[in-house]
Amino acid sequence: MAIVKVQNRAHGIMYHHFHDEQKHIVGQGSISAESFNDMLDFYGKSHNIIGAEEFLRKSETGTLSPSDVCLTFDDGLLCQYDVAYPVMKDRGLTAFWFIYTSPLDGVMERLEIYRHFRSLMFPDIEDFYAAFFSIVSAHDTEAMKAMQCYNPDEYLKEFPFYTPNDKRFRYMRDVGLGEKKYNVIMDKMLEMYRYDIEKNSQILWLSTDNMRDLRQQGNIIGLHSYSHPTVMIKKNYSEQLKEYATNKRQLEEVLKEEIVAVSYPCNSYNSDTLKCMKELGMKIGFRANMAEVCLAEYLYEYPREDHANIMKAMEVAR
Ligand SMILES: [Zn+2]
Repeated sequence: MAIVKVQNRAHGIMYHHFHDEQKHIVGQGSISAESFNDMLDFYGKSHNIIGAEEFLRKSETGTLSPSDVCLTFDDGLLCQYDVAYPVMKDRGLTAFWFIYTSPLDGVMERLEIYRHFRSLMFPDIEDFYAAFFSIVSAHDTEAMKAMQCYNPDEYLKEFPFYTPNDKRFRYMRDVGLGEKKYNVIMDKMLEMYRYDIEKNSQILWLSTDNMRDLRQQGNIIGLHSYSHPTVMIKKNYSEQLKEYATNKRQLEEVLKEEIVAVSYPCNSYNSDTLKCMKELGMKIGFRANMAEVCLAEYLYEYPREDHANIMKAMEVAR
């Protein structure tokens, strides 16, 4: 039987979306409680899955071994709390939860709204991509032209589980359109499909009570910026500092303690970001893939394995 190769460095496993097929619908890349449990069994055969506080303590004392692994949840999603957290509690495990805080101010952060819209309104992600590209081509010829520079072999090659259209879509979103024009296109779609933002947003994010409960049970709550920009490195140092300092202040108000951990939204970080982390007193930071450190700041650049890669390895092992 194939076993996942032990990485040469302690790392995190990165999780985003979960489903229970009732409150939390199936979406692209979402996993059930059962697959989550199976995955922990599988990865645990070749790795030492430890709690968040133990991981942090070992990091600070330089005693992490290459097989040590922690669990991490990005984006502060209610589906993580409802579906994955009970499984973890049964196993006596804790995790890092990286939370962006604009939803606490009532901001319906588009990233999550758009994702939910895609899952709810389209039977398959390919149906969404087809509708999306037809609207872009009707409204923005300039953005369509940008696709001529798109190189599918190079773009996002560190995410091998993306399908060709996943990559085309991300390229169009981040390069062809850019944030503002992308939002205009998506808002147009929400309107066309009569998606109820107010109603649907109720089930997307963790409440402050959820956060306090997680912390009380020994989980570590960490930074993930205020508004979750997809390309943080386009912002200058002071803009980045504002994103993370606001995020920190809000989480500290909720938890009444200092926040010391961070993960970078969409793996977008540069030397300015790491300068911010020092300024804000972070003790540990996580990338969003298993690539080697970019900036030689080991404590701020712990690698993470995307759960999708582990799912793939499980299929191969079967
Ligand atoms: Zn994120």
